[in-house]
This record gives sequence, structure tokens and C-alpha cells, in this order.
Amino acid sequence: MLTDSYGRTATDLRVSVTDRCNLRCSYCMPAEGLDWLPKPELLTDDEIVRLVGLAVTRLGITEVRFTGGEPLLRRGLPAIVERVAALAPRPEISVTTNGVGLDRLAAPLRAAGLDRVNVSLDTLSPATFVQLANRDRLADVVAGLAAAAAIGMTPVKVNAVLMRGVNDGEAPALLRFCLDRGYELRFIEQMPLDAQHGWRRDEMVTADEILAMLDGEFSLVPIDAELRGSAPAETFIVDGGPQTVGIIGSVTRPFCGSCDRIRLTADGQLRNCLFARSENDLRTPLRAGASDAELIAQWERCIQAKLPGHGINDPGFLQPARPMSAIGG
Ligand code: SAM
Repeated sequence: MLTDSYGRTATDLRVSVTDRCNLRCSYCMPAEGLDWLPKPELLTDDEIVRLVGLAVTRLGITEVRFTGGEPLLRRGLPAIVERVAALAPRPEISVTTNGVGLDRLAAPLRAAGLDRVNVSLDTLSPATFVQLANRDRLADVVAGLAAAAAIGMTPVKVNAVLMRGVNDGEAPALLRFCLDRGYELRFIEQMPLDAQHGWRRDEMVTADEILAMLDGEFSLVPIDAELRGSAPAETFIVDGGPQTVGIIGSVTRPFCGSCDRIRLTADGQLRNCLFARSENDLRTPLRAGASDAELIAQWERCIQAKLPGHGINDPGFLQPARPMSAIGG
């Protein structure tokens, strides 16, 4: 078990399979993109499967989420999913994606064993999409969502980040869009993770503001906090149910006390928090022929160093040197 010194147990592994992305969301990376990791530094398919296999069969990980960068850009993703789905005990397998290309990949991923998708969608306006993501791909995302739902990867979850002065007027419309199609929407507060370090606390659209915007148009009833468990989203029943909306107040309503996550970066570094200032290298020992026991010891060192909180609200908070795209959101 991956239990830290505060008694939290990590059961949810986020695996970044590439740092590359085909969008340029301004809250994540600059318009010109980033210097991508050189290919030899990326874990191979076999290396990913070995590390995920150890985590699942020896360390109590029950959920594996593939992310990035944009995970659909990794050509081997369906094959990786298939091999992870063959592990015993079989973990729950999901992907967080921007949805571009999902219309084509939903069927092979489903056939490989993918259980669920989280698709990022911040706006319903093509012009605002271009402003936010620097690419004209809204229609692809909408098509990807529809394909995932059609193939039965339900509930299809949608993640939205609101940016002040850009898409912050769209909260009710995004919720209506998701309710009409049976998607489960979650708003995520913007976090200080962008490569260009442009995050400003006073610019961030807060969970309170999002709730106030929705409250005018929908009846929202909070689901019992006890049912939330380690889920980051505070969930509300919308208009009497059964559909819900989630608000992930990572900054103003942190949920670190019940965090159950650990992360593996695309270049084989373990992180115990999105905001961790250090990493535990798995790639070097892996490539030097380390035994399972040696690799497991590295996972245990990582989890033991996990801090009680992400520190965003502490004086002197420093953003991690690595951008979100490399860490894997
Ligand atoms: N490319 C995929 C996608 O768009 O979903 C996966 C990677 S992306 C980093 C994962 C999630 O992190 C997305 O939902 C994205 O909106 C969110 N995200 C990225 N930067 C963020 C930030 N600074 N604050 C909050 N959420 C962020």
C-alpha cells in the first residue's frame, strides 16, 4: 500500500503518456508551445506497462488515468490500455483528453478496455475556443464527446476551466449543454500550473463565483460531503436530479486531506502532488535493470515524502518548475 505519513493512501495513479499537445490552452502553455521532451527520455510502452503493473499488482493502485499533454497523441495508447486492462486485479482505466481525435479513437480505446473519459471543454463558442486554445478545434471536441457517449463510455465527464473576461459568462450554457447530452460537468478552478507563470489569484474565477452563476439558472442541492470521499469535486444535484454538476475548488477549497493520488510523468518521474517540488526518478533505475523490489522502494520513498497540502495558499508558495503538460493533469 502507498500510505503517506499523514495516513492517506494513494489508490489513483495518473500517468502522463506524452507532454505534447495539439492545443495551446492559455492556462496551461504559451501560444508557441514548449520544448517537448526528447523522445529517448519518454518511457516506452513496455516501461509504462511495467511500472503501472507494479503499482496495480503490488502497491494497491485501483484506478489508472492516462493523461498528458494530450494522451490521444500517443500512438501506442490503445495497446497500453489493453495491457493494463489485462492486469489482475484489473484497475479502472480512464483517459483525460481534450477530445480532439476522440471520434476516431473512442471505439479502439473502448475495445482495448477503456472504462471512462474526461473531456476538457471550456467554451461552446468557436471564436472563444480559438482565443483560449489557440486552435480552431471546437467541432472536433464536440464530435469526440458524442462518439464517447455513443459507444457507452458513460458517464462522459466534462472538465471546464473558466477564465475571467474570456469564458466566465458561459457557466450556465456549459451546464445546459452537458445536461442535454447526459454528460457530467465539473468546473475546475484555475491553478498556478501554466508554463508561463501567468496565474493571478485575483484573476481566478472562484468556486463561490461559479456556484453563484449557476444558482441563478438552476436549483443546486449539495450531495452529502460524506459521499464525496476522496473525490475532488463538490457535487450538486441539478434541478432535482438525477444529473449533477461538480466544482473542483482546488485553490479556494483544497481537498488535500483526502488526496489519494500519485503521478507518473511522461519521462518516468514519480510525483506525490501536482505541486511537488521534487520527484523520484524511476526511469534511471528501470533502465539500469532494477529489480521490482528496488522500484517499489522508490514508490514508497515518494509517497512517504508527501506533504499535508499543496501549499498554493501558503506565503512563499512557489509554482513547480515543471509545467502541467509534463506532469500530467
Ligand atoms: N490534454 C488533456 C486535456 O486537455 O484534458 C489532458 C491534460 S490537461 C493538463 C488535464 C486537465 O487539466 C484539463 O482538464 C485541463 O483543463 C486542466 N488544466 C490544465 N491547466 C490547468 C490549470 N492551470 N488549472 C486548472 N486546470 C488546468
